[in-house]
Amino acid sequence: MPFIDLKFQYQELKSQIHARINAVLEHGQYIMGPEVKELEDKLANYTGAKHCITVASGTEALLISLMALNIQPGDEIITTPFTFVATAEVIVLLGAKPVFVDVEPDTGNINANLIEAAITPNTRAIMPVSLYGQPADMDEINAIAARHGNLPVIEDAAQSFGATYKGRKSCNLSTLGCTSFFPSKPLGCYGDGGAIFTNNDSLAQACKEIRVHGQSQRYVHTRVGVGGRMDTIQCAIVLAKLERFDREVKQRLDIGQRYNQLIDEVDVARIQQRLGRTSVFAQYTIVTSEREILQKRLGEAGIPTAVHYPVPLNEQPAYKHLCCPDCTPVAKDMAKKVMSLPMSADLTKDDVLSIVQALKGGGTVGEKATA
Ligand SMILES: *Cc1c(COP(=O)(O)O)cnc(C)c1O
Repeated sequence: MPFIDLKFQYQELKSQIHARINAVLEHGQYIMGPEVKELEDKLANYTGAKHCITVASGTEALLISLMALNIQPGDEIITTPFTFVATAEVIVLLGAKPVFVDVEPDTGNINANLIEAAITPNTRAIMPVSLYGQPADMDEINAIAARHGNLPVIEDAAQSFGATYKGRKSCNLSTLGCTSFFPSKPLGCYGDGGAIFTNNDSLAQACKEIRVHGQSQRYVHTRVGVGGRMDTIQCAIVLAKLERFDREVKQRLDIGQRYNQLIDEVDVARIQQRLGRTSVFAQYTIVTSEREILQKRLGEAGIPTAVHYPVPLNEQPAYKHLCCPDCTPVAKDMAKKVMSLPMSADLTKDDVLSIVQALKGGGTVGEKATA
């Protein structure tokens, strides 16, 4: 069993994916070809955001968003230490300072109640992460931002494309939303890719210019930018995958629910989902003080596991000088206990059952026990 199965989806979509790639090979517009705009229109429509700007990766989406906000050296950006390194990396790349706020023990998302105390005159933005595919407390975070001089809020939605929050789509919950099409994300391409979403016309224009070297017209460089475009072929692949995406999101929700039932039955703690929002379960994650034992047990049963994330960013060598590792005790504790189980849209209910059975280490679990 793979940790994330990408082959089944490929087999299901093979003819559409090949047709889309072939169309690009035939027209030859490998950079900024028509598929780029087609994808941006479809993704904007999907999320409800006015603008979508595709970019080279999720990391680039975050970097370009901060550049569009004109983040300068010394500026402070409030974020979470319990995330993939890219979230803080882009802040440090611009010479700004990540201010790490602790997370909630049951969701792993930034604890909105702790944000206000971290705001200083240098705060320029708040960057929550929709960890494991579930949006953070976006209304509360947006309200705090509004109270403090309309600070922009950037949702790192790299793991949550397709998730909802009070009926609205992740990526369209704040000033800017950034997602990733890394192959193993809920909506992946076959290489690197990402996108920025916003309803703000001038931020959208800034992101578009920054994506191509700060160019407002050919060879007129209005601002400093990056080479941050998403390849036409990768856009074409996402377009093919979009045809099946609604179904995959539904399958992800079903698998997540199935996992929840069985995990609760064997009395193992897990990441909780809040009412009024959905997770697309980029990861299905349990919380256990017996992580090593369980990883070994599952490994012996041929079931791969992973840890997202074993070290909070404020304990990483390149970042630990930025914030004392003990300022975020919940993140520190979760990093020792979280463990992710195999998760893909095409996992079957029987797969889930056998994973939880293996986790329990014998005995019966779930429907088979009562059948
Ligand atoms: C994957 C991920 C990123 C980076 O996306 P890439 O496309 O790999 O650059 C950023 N933030 C989070 C939370 C992620 O999971």
